[in-house]
Amino acid sequence: MTSFQDHLARVKARIREVSPEEVAANLKSGAPMVLVDVRERDEIENGFLPTANLLGRGHLEAKIASVAHVADAPIVVYCAGGVRSAMAAAALQDMGYTHVRSMAGGFTRWARAGLPVKTRKSLTQSQTARYSRHLLMPEVGEEGQLKLLDAKVLLIGAGGLGSPAAVYLAAAGVGTLGLVDGDAVDMSNLQRQILHAEDRVGMPKVESALKMLRGINSDIDIRTYATRIDSGNVLDIFKDYDIIVDGCDNFPTRYLVNDACYMLGKTNVHGSIFRFEGQVTVFKPGTDGPCYRCLYPEPPPPGMAPSCAEAGVLGVLPGIIGVAQAIEVVKVALDIGKPLVGRLLTFDALQMKFRDLKIRRDPDCPLCGEQPTIKELIDYELFCSMSKD
Ligand SMILES: [Zn+2]
Repeated sequence: MTSFQDHLARVKARIREVSPEEVAANLKSGAPMVLVDVRERDEIENGFLPTANLLGRGHLEAKIASVAHVADAPIVVYCAGGVRSAMAAAALQDMGYTHVRSMAGGFTRWARAGLPVKTRKSLTQSQTARYSRHLLMPEVGEEGQLKLLDAKVLLIGAGGLGSPAAVYLAAAGVGTLGLVDGDAVDMSNLQRQILHAEDRVGMPKVESALKMLRGINSDIDIRTYATRIDSGNVLDIFKDYDIIVDGCDNFPTRYLVNDACYMLGKTNVHGSIFRFEGQVTVFKPGTDGPCYRCLYPEPPPPGMAPSCAEAGVLGVLPGIIGVAQAIEVVKVALDIGKPLVGRLLTFDALQMKFRDLKIRRDPDCPLCGEQPTIKELIDYELFCSMSKD
């Protein structure tokens, strides 16, 4: 039987250590490094190293493969003072990892040296209660809920699609929800636009929406823009958001949303409805997926496409499509599942049928193709208005 001191000395003799300053230099240079924090949960409350994977010591061996994919991955392990990380480093070496270091002096020495510390927000008691059904799911959990609370999602249109999307995104705890709509509530909207109510007819839609959403979740930040987006304001409004939900009802806006999202590198969760049919897809710049112009390079000529006002729409239909858009937002924000990138989900209410079509990026696309011709935003005349709403 060996004493702990002897055991530690033996462990330390067979692992390598690295100083906090060396780790800091590495972080600064951006050199590849898998940083692993093996402290307990409550120790992390006062902060941790930037980019650290908070794996803890208990299940380290089981979890390490999720962050270190190859045997020679450069791993740096740290704890509070350098003892547990030495043991952890030895354990990882025993698993076959060849480039493991333990950070000498641990987080204590790191913090004392004034090196950068990141802190993790945690959920408040009322958030823990509110989002408990999310916290039960490992795919979301506290970390995922914090991601949702950090997400900034902008809804274009507080109408048919924007209504169900906004209601569910507010309920799910998307921390910042923006709403753009320049219209006022009309009696004919109430057939499908569930954000609004009879006593708010005539009120600006964003104001009516705010009333409804506040009642669902007073814990999130809701920003309203009582305006129609155009080439003059779109970039300024979009820049503060990560995900744009396109629920607009006209072509000029749809093309503008597509182009601005592409130019700013924002994910565009697109939905549209027409009579008994709807479709949803996700345009994500930087992936193999297409943009809207890959599918339809230019808007249809004036008068070719009827609007909801002209063609009608089944009142319940936007519920399905708007909620599908909300689900895609949550998946993108959490980085889980398989979003509708490069896929178009179509829905036929009369047949009660969903179809999932592959859609491809067009190398000749005027916007995202190899020789783009569209380099600035275009305000198409409001000649056409169509489908969504
Ligand atoms: Zn394109």
